[in-house]
Amino acid sequence: MSLCLSCGLCCDGTMFEVAAITPEEAMRYGDRVNVSKDRRHLLLPCPALDGCKCTTYQDRPGVCSTFKCLALASLDEGLMSDAEAHEAIEEVLGRRRRVTALMGMTDDRQALAAARKQAVAGTASEELTAALAYLNRALLVMLLKPEDSFLRKEK
Ligand code: SF4
Ligand code: SF4
Repeated sequence: MSLCLSCGLCCDGTMFEVAAITPEEAMRYGDRVNVSKDRRHLLLPCPALDGCKCTTYQDRPGVCSTFKCLALASLDEGLMSDAEAHEAIEEVLGRRRRVTALMGMTDDRQALAAARKQAVAGTASEELTAALAYLNRALLVMLLKPEDSFLRKEK
């Protein structure tokens, strides 16, 4: 939990753009819910996120309570120390800050959203495209399971 309080990457739109939720859960999030056919998705950044804190933690959707990134799962399974898990998160945050700097902005989350729009529109500079790719690689690693990753301990 303390790791998540210094991160927020899976709630703030950096790691995912949406979170799948049930119809009952959708009723709590008003216009931040996208309905397509019989599926409902909470649009991220999540309106319940305050800084890195979930303000609806006890009542958060099932997908939120079951998701664990590589750093959190590895910490829980004793494959990473607290310091190593924070370092892994800091690596991703640092790559996101690089995107923010290239965008000439101060808010990391807004800068990343704007940078991704530029990338989709094909107007991102070479440097920004490279920084986004560098960030995406780190995010992909964070989606690995500890048993699939290079962090697995030898028996
Ligand atoms: S689960 Fe991982 S990505 Fe999500 S807030 Fe916690 S440490 Fe960050
Ligand atoms: S409900 Fe809480 S845990 Fe789920 S995405 Fe929103 S802030 Fe994150």
